[in-house]
Amino acid sequence: MYNVHVNVQRTQVLVVGGGLVGLTAALVLRHHGVDVTLVERHRTCSPQPKARRLHFRSMEVFRELGLAPAVHEAARDLAGHDHMAVGRTLAEAERLPLWQPPGGPVPEVGPEPPCLVAQDVLEPVLRAAARDAGADVRFGTALTGFAQDADGVVADLGGRPLRAEYVVAADGARSGVRTALGIRRSGRGAVGEPAVSVYFRADLASVVRGREFNLCTIQHPEATGTLASVDGHSRWVFMAASGRTDRDWPAVLRTALGVAVPDLEVLSVLPWRAEMLVADRYSAGRVHLAGDAAHVMPPYAAMGANTGISDAHELGWKLAAVLSGDAAPALLDTYDAERRPAGWFAADQSARRADQMSGAAGDPGLAHPLVLVAGGFQYTDGALCHDGAPDPEPVGEFAPAGRVGTRVPHRWLDAARTRSTLDLAGPGWAVLVSGDPRPWERAAGGMAVQRLDADFLPDGTGLLLRPDDVVAWRGTDPEAPARVRRGILRAAPVSPAGPRVG
Ligand SMILES: Cc1cc2nc3c(=O)[nH]c(=O)nc-3n(C[C@H](O)[C@H](O)[C@H](O)COP(=O)(O)OP(=O)(O)OC[C@H]3O[C@@H](n4cnc5c(N)ncnc54)[C@H](O)[C@@H]3O)c2cc1C
Repeated sequence: MYNVHVNVQRTQVLVVGGGLVGLTAALVLRHHGVDVTLVERHRTCSPQPKARRLHFRSMEVFRELGLAPAVHEAARDLAGHDHMAVGRTLAEAERLPLWQPPGGPVPEVGPEPPCLVAQDVLEPVLRAAARDAGADVRFGTALTGFAQDADGVVADLGGRPLRAEYVVAADGARSGVRTALGIRRSGRGAVGEPAVSVYFRADLASVVRGREFNLCTIQHPEATGTLASVDGHSRWVFMAASGRTDRDWPAVLRTALGVAVPDLEVLSVLPWRAEMLVADRYSAGRVHLAGDAAHVMPPYAAMGANTGISDAHELGWKLAAVLSGDAAPALLDTYDAERRPAGWFAADQSARRADQMSGAAGDPGLAHPLVLVAGGFQYTDGALCHDGAPDPEPVGEFAPAGRVGTRVPHRWLDAARTRSTLDLAGPGWAVLVSGDPRPWERAAGGMAVQRLDADFLPDGTGLLLRPDDVVAWRGTDPEAPARVRRGILRAAPVSPAGPRVG
């Protein structure tokens, strides 16, 4: 396709797309020491606030990257805006009590609290962090074509070739890379009715003071919809169940607000329709899909962006392991084996939530909300080793127990509550043991070993933690973690009890 000259630019990983997921992928890759170039066709980050909820699991990823303080700082405008509210108009709206998880008290979910931060505030923070971390971040640069062979990918950046060993396609729901690879999507397609989001500016600080909210349901018959706080004082999104963009939106908004708003300015009116679609393959050769390029889902469980962040987190360590020579390229096959079912689970749960909100009859089959926010999908097939029969984690309740294929449960490791079990792995691997750690330390092959006497870890039991905090193996043989880790990296079937097979 191209004449590749000796002086053609090279990078280890090309990330296509400078949205939330592409930027996170670049940060994770730099965290693992990978040389990364990111291209984004727009000159600036998206001005749309889009997703605002970062769940526990995503905050753990930013914690590992050393970015949790910066993200919380970016989120300060919406700190404490966790309530829902409801009223005929905003002026008449009352706050509802804070949501409590079903089923009574639950253990502390994670070390880093979730937060609300609009994407147009967060993405510039991530872009600056990616540059600071040494990524070559090129906004105003589009991928216009690519070709791959056994050795790598040659990307066409508007006439300039760039040779990469791997490509992460985080180029959004209409992914041109996915289309070029001929990867189709499956799923329910459109879910629910068409909707419209009206993004506007109005100084409502004095109206909402003392009853700050995340979402406010407006029940006025001529202006029914949901008002979302973008910064809690002057930027808002009004979402209405209508595909019409041609209404007199300033008039509708004035009715919905129920107060005089002389400075009201409509910034954009975007029609949209929720969809549930998941790519049939996440990988094709050296190109891997992440984020909306791989899955789209209704926004009602706030899982779209969060699922993409987990894609980037997992793909990052696997690419790094292969590029450093620690792992066989076949390890990358487990990205599809793990993240595609996880994407399907998140998209399906989001669609079920949409059904429930629209009053559909029957059991919606919803997972416990904390299972979703803690990234609680259990991998059953992939970079794992089951010692005995698989032990399925329930999704109808939040009961993390350190099962193989799940995120390690959060427990504080010190009295000051500064170090969590979620801080043990990443970028390296780690072993978590209950009881005498010495035999485990002797056999760990350089991995960090941490003792923890916890309810989910009977005495003498150890967990092998992958760099993405997922339990890769659970058992009682101190010799097994190093052997299992080697087997996983070589992408060979592993037998915990005996020699590696395959
Ligand atoms: C209006 C709107 C409102 C939303 N609201 C919510 C919400 O309330 N809750 C929720 O959970 N989710 C919401 N979402 C979805 C959420 O924003 C996405 O899940 C999230 O942005 C996915 O991030 P991404 O990085 O995968 O994709 P994107 O954010 O779409 O980023 C993809 C990037 O790739 C770039 N790109 C594409 N092609 C190329 C190319 N060839 N070369 C270079 N760059 C390229 C694009 O310009 C874009 O910047 C919303 C989305 C939209 C559009």
